[in-house]
Amino acid sequence: MNDCIFCKIGRGETQTAVVYEDELVIAFDDISPQAPVHTLIVPRAHYEGPGDGLPSDLMSALCAAIPIVAEAKGVAGSGYRVIINVGHDARQSVPHMHIHILGGKAMSHGMVNFAS
Ligand code: 5GP
Ligand code: ZN
Repeated sequence: MNDCIFCKIGRGETQTAVVYEDELVIAFDDISPQAPVHTLIVPRAHYEGPGDGLPSDLMSALCAAIPIVAEAKGVAGSGYRVIINVGHDARQSVPHMHIHILGGKAMSHGMVNFAS
């Protein structure tokens, strides 16, 4: 996808600082962090979400990057939250599959905030 921002980052066409990368995935800090640590892990290839034919080996590569990113960002010991927003109701705003890694501060117990 030529005009997809995460595809562009995956192709190295932006100034984004890389937290982790391999041939299948790339991780970088969120431009609008919601926590002291807020890093995104994305596949280099364009898939909208996990229901978009994303191959299982690519999902494995994305998941394998989670503890690597947590270690790199210094939250492996303190803990972190992993979120994938999928589609409208989850308010997915970038239609390129991505995993949010959030941490650096203790969170509340609730996982879900519904719109009123
Ligand atoms: P979503 O709401 O789709 O789950 O999350 C998309 C995330 O991508 C948002 O947290 C947003 O701040 C982040 N984002 C959007 N555009 C860019 C960008 O150009 N660079 C970076 N690093 N993050 C972005
Ligand atoms: Zn894309």
